[in-house]
Amino acid sequence: MRDPRDASVIAVERRRARATLKRAIKTAERTPLSVAHEGWESPKSPAAGLRIAEFLGSISGIGSVKIPRILDSLGISPRKRLGALGARQVEALTAWLLARQDGRVGTPQRGRLVVVAGPTAVGKGTVVARIRELHPEVKFSVSATTRAPRPGEIDGEHYHFVTDDEFDRLVETSQMLEWAVVHGRHRYGTPRGPIVAALDNGSSIILEIDIQGARQVKKAMPDAILVFLLPPSWNELVRRLQARGTESPDEQYRRLATAKVEFDAQTEFDVTVVNDNVSEAAEAVVDLMAVG
Ligand code: 5GP
Repeated sequence: MRDPRDASVIAVERRRARATLKRAIKTAERTPLSVAHEGWESPKSPAAGLRIAEFLGSISGIGSVKIPRILDSLGISPRKRLGALGARQVEALTAWLLARQDGRVGTPQRGRLVVVAGPTAVGKGTVVARIRELHPEVKFSVSATTRAPRPGEIDGEHYHFVTDDEFDRLVETSQMLEWAVVHGRHRYGTPRGPIVAALDNGSSIILEIDIQGARQVKKAMPDAILVFLLPPSWNELVRRLQARGTESPDEQYRRLATAKVEFDAQTEFDVTVVNDNVSEAAEAVVDLMAVG
């Protein structure tokens, strides 16, 4: 239904709502990142209507001299509204806001984003399960996937099971921090909102994702700690893959070929943890979450 009020009245109300938001950022009642997220998630919100230059200008310590320089480095035009940024711009602005938040004196302590990845059959799932067991306080990201649930898997707990259309929409609306096609079949992705909320609250969070996803997270959030889980040896990896017996000999061969390539990615990671003893590997990952 059309709003019966005069268009100029509505425009005034919208302007007022935007002014209130800018004040909330200025007085540190709201973090710039939470306002930006509101704009990206609700295209009709006052936050979405904020021009990027006004938004940046309401952050303390940023004035008219710095704004053009910052926008230039992010590849965003000053007249763009927050809600109309492209996926790359959202990513660039998120990384910039996070880096700034991290470096600011006097901000509440922020949590850490820890990404656990590694080659196939290295035992990622086992290590993550042990962390859950030993440290129920640790938060985990729940990925979205287009694959069907396996028996016993619960929607919203193990994964958010979504259709292809729903996945498309999540990607198009920049709600994915990263996503990838894994094992050449289904799409998997990390929803951005819960990660940003956890970090804003000072909580650390673990992502168990594949190597392509880990690379994307590092690009979007350079402060993320990438952990590469290694088997004690190559022979042990082959033995584990054969022992679990869930793949046909052909599939095992294919996965080992992938694992060889994946091994080379370890140099891109911040930390390597050898999964020799599951509990020790779990503790090594949890140790990284302490903000030092
Ligand atoms: P599964 O289907 O066995 O649960 O998971 C298959 C693979 O998908 C695992 O290697 C896991 O690390 C990866 N994966 C799970 N969630 C995500 C995600 O959100 N993003 C990416 N890039 N990979 C994921």
